[in-house]
Amino acid sequence: MSVDRATAWPYDERGEPGAFVYQRYAHPTGAAAEAALGALEGGEALLYSSGTAAVTACVFALCRPGSTIALAAGAYFGTGVTFAQFAPWGLKVVEFDQTGPAPAGADVVWVESPSNPLLTLPNWDALRGQGAVVVCDATASTPVFLKALDEGAGVVLHSGTKYLTGHHDALIGATVTRDAELRDRLYSARMRLGLSAAPDAAAMLRRGLDTLEVRVRRQTETATEIARRLGEHPAVLRVRYPGLGGLISFDVADGSERAVETSTRLIRNQTSLGGVRSTMESRHRWEGDRIPVGLLRLSVGLEDVQAIWADLSAALEQA
Ligand code: PLP
Repeated sequence: MSVDRATAWPYDERGEPGAFVYQRYAHPTGAAAEAALGALEGGEALLYSSGTAAVTACVFALCRPGSTIALAAGAYFGTGVTFAQFAPWGLKVVEFDQTGPAPAGADVVWVESPSNPLLTLPNWDALRGQGAVVVCDATASTPVFLKALDEGAGVVLHSGTKYLTGHHDALIGATVTRDAELRDRLYSARMRLGLSAAPDAAAMLRRGLDTLEVRVRRQTETATEIARRLGEHPAVLRVRYPGLGGLISFDVADGSERAVETSTRLIRNQTSLGGVRSTMESRHRWEGDRIPVGLLRLSVGLEDVQAIWADLSAALEQA
């Protein structure tokens, strides 16, 4: 795949700007990746320098001083931390249980499918007709398992760093919307705040989309089996698996999580998720008491299911 890394393109013979002017506004590699992602989600996609940059663009596009975001409890920890950066500008955040209705009076309702790492799913029936713009972080569902715009979301958001690129080698984020005015506000936020995606990362996302469906279907198959086996393991107190995707979280006895996570060989002990290689970490080190101390988040990769289980069950001897 060719990557155009130019930061600016010549004006035409009349001195008029063409389709691409300056890399921060838009670039051909990003436009191609946006067209492919937009086709998958059924809307108009924009890419950003990270999932967090996409979250930031949403706040600028959808909120004003005094706005309230109703945030799904247990959603990606960093999303709430990013929102907190806007507290000095008067942004209010209230948490709610996304398996039920959102609180009345919010300007934006922010759900995550499935929430990471507690793995609950939004209740779309309860969200319909409640007035606020719904943003759905569909990073872990991917468009293979969820078309959030069809369910009523105004914006679907991805950390493309995860499943969309899928190979642990690009930091990138995305929004997709069908609302032209909202797309323009997101585009302005991206361009004026300097949140644009780099061409190389956009190329990795475009490449990743070609194999997205095969990867996430295989990861789902493997994760379903691993979740079943974890459920039968005497050292495992609780398993959370929503029935789709490659993310599982499970609890071991408080205090034994470090011994388990540092004992795997095939499964890498590192953060992040959604790639071709399996990764696992204790989330308490990052999220504190909002999650169980013994919770381990496992992102199932493309390795053989027996090899993953052999590694995990050997590590569970440490629990
Ligand atoms: N949303 C979810 C569900 C995530 O897991 C993450 C990152 O872990 C993000 C958003 C933020 O994305 P990024 O790390 O690409 O900024």
